Formats: sequence, C-alpha cells, structure tokens
Amino acid sequence: MQEAGTREEKILVLVRLRPLNEKEIAASELADWECINDTTILYRNGLREGSTFPSAYSFDRVFRGDNTTRQLYEEGIREITLSVVSGINSTVFAYGQTSSGKTYTMCGITDYSVADIFDYINKHEERAFALKFSAIEIYNEVVRDLLSADNVSLRLLDDPERGTIVEKLREESVRDHSHFNQLVAICEAQRQVGETSLNEKSSRSHQILRLTVESSAREFMGKDSSTALSASVNFVDLAGSERASQALSAGARLKEGCHINRSLLTLGNVIRKLSKGRNGHINYRDSKLTRILQPALGGNARTAIICNLSPARSHVEQTRNTLLFACCAK
Ligand code: ADP
Ligand code: MG
Repeated sequence: MQEAGTREEKILVLVRLRPLNEKEIAASELADWECINDTTILYRNGLREGSTFPSAYSFDRVFRGDNTTRQLYEEGIREITLSVVSGINSTVFAYGQTSSGKTYTMCGITDYSVADIFDYINKHEERAFALKFSAIEIYNEVVRDLLSADNVSLRLLDDPERGTIVEKLREESVRDHSHFNQLVAICEAQRQVGETSLNEKSSRSHQILRLTVESSAREFMGKDSSTALSASVNFVDLAGSERASQALSAGARLKEGCHINRSLLTLGNVIRKLSKGRNGHINYRDSKLTRILQPALGGNARTAIICNLSPARSHVEQTRNTLLFACCAK
C-alpha cells in the first residue's frame, strides 16, 4: 500500500472553556474563567489573590461557552480527520479533568467527522472504499475490546509490517453513518458493564474509537494495487487529567495502591516531545495508549488535542494544569 509522504506538522491544540453546567449552577458555583477574546483566557480572580501563576493564557484560538462543537470542528479538526480518505492517519484527543466536557466534545467531533467522511465517499465514485470500525478501552493498562461482550484483556503484539497491533481485536465493516452510530452504541453499552460506575470508570479509562478507510481506484481493482490507500482516524476520549496530576504531585513518595495512570503520563511526555518536532527518540513503548497510537502520532500522521476546561471556582487547580499542558503541547 502506498503511504503519503511523512509530514512535519505541528499538533493542533484547541482550548475549550465550557459554560457552567446545570449541576454547578444548582450548587451556586461561580465561573472564574473567561475568554476575553478569541485568543485569550483570563482567570478573573488571579489579581485579587495575588497569585504567582499567570492570570492570562493565550493560544491561537480559544472557544468559549457560546461557541458550538461545530465551530470547533470547522476550525482545523475537519481537515485533520478528513485526511483519512487520502491515506493519512489522524488522531483527535479530548484532554481535561473529569466533567470538563471531553465526552460532550468528542461525541460531536466524531459525528461531524464521520458525516464528512461518508459525504466524501459518496461523491467519489471513481474509487472503491471499505470502512472498518474497532474500539478499545484502556483501564489500568488493561486493553479491552468494546465491541466484544467477553471481558478479556487483549495483548499487544509487534507486527513487523503493521507495528503494534491489538491481538484478537474485533473489526466490523461499516456500511454507513447510522451503522457507525449503532456500533458506537454497542461500545457505550459495553463500557457500562462491570462493578464500577460509568462515571468512576470513564474518569480512569481511555476510550479509542477507530475508523479505518481503505480505498483503491475502481478501474484498477484486482489488477493494480499502486493506487491503494489505507489509513485510520482515532477518536480518543482520555481519562480525566486529574489522574496524572495527582500522580505527579505525589511524586516519588507514591504509595502502593495509589493509582497512576501510566498511559496518560506517557502521552503527556510524548506530546511534549512531538510538539518540538516529530524526529528524535520518543518513548511510545512506555504505555499501552502510546504504543497503540504510535502510527497515528509519529510519521505519516496528523494530530489534534482539544483541551477542555471547566470555568468553576472549585476546579481552578485542574483548570490551570490543563492550561499548562495545552501550553506545552502547542
Ligand atoms: P467529561 O467527559 O470530561 O467528564 P462531560 O462531557 O461528561 O465531561 O461534561 C460534563 C457535563 O457538562 C455534562 O453534563 C455535559 O453535557 C456538560 N457540558 C460539557 N461541555 C459542554 C459545553 N461545551 N456546552 C454545554 N454543556 C457542556
Ligand atoms: Mg467523559
């Protein structure tokens, strides 16, 4: 199969400050963070507190409560996820503490992306397309198939040609957008299995939905594979980032039994290195998440990270941590 050229491209970092949600409003929470324009987010309490942290953070673009997920999608994400039809791997991450809006954002992004991919396919009859869907959850460094009812841990294998693969992972052919949605619904039902509540689990686990798009020019079908393309787009709803910062602040004195989210920590390290350029040694092998996503992060790949923030006063520490992560990643 033909690979599009390796690209040197920066990671797209988008910052999204959600509005106070119903629960916070009911609890009379105050919103301490505000987007003062399209590029700057301000901590309104910073000066009053005499804080040593910066109060204003600037990015290429910040999204505020009254911006829609579609606006965010159209600001760079579409270009990244749609490149899968041209044989370029891509990944969109939702980063942020629990309740910051990761799942809310990722559901919308996934839906818009899949709609545009099918739209492209329907308009390009000169090529034959085959789409496959797979989904995994990484919980405590255990990889599980979200399309399968048996709750077994899957092994990672090193394939000389394909890189790291998840052994025995189910892949379903996808007919159309509504079929894709049905498959996602199966995954959601699977995630709720088990003794831990969904909320507790989603704060500790990573979910990867993967759509693989293969295509070839129709006139060459079966005769010539030189026009064949294959790539995957990954939609990643990460574990709550409070897990990583808790582990970091506990530092070397970390006691046994205290949960470290190895995948989240390693992802942070990988992203920081990638943001300085895709060359040089990167420790993908330090966690399951980064091993699985290596082909979609390094080399022939495009990456976006959406950093989600809660405006609530009670979340100020985690909001700062996410902003610092976003600054490192850009
Ligand atoms: P997470 O997945 O990071 O734990 P959720 O996506 O579940 O967070 O969001 C927490 C709550 O906030 C949900 O009730 C969700 O509907 C709401 N919410 C999140 N982002 C937004 C947004 N941009 N606009 C309106 N409501 C939002
Ligand atoms: Mg969630």
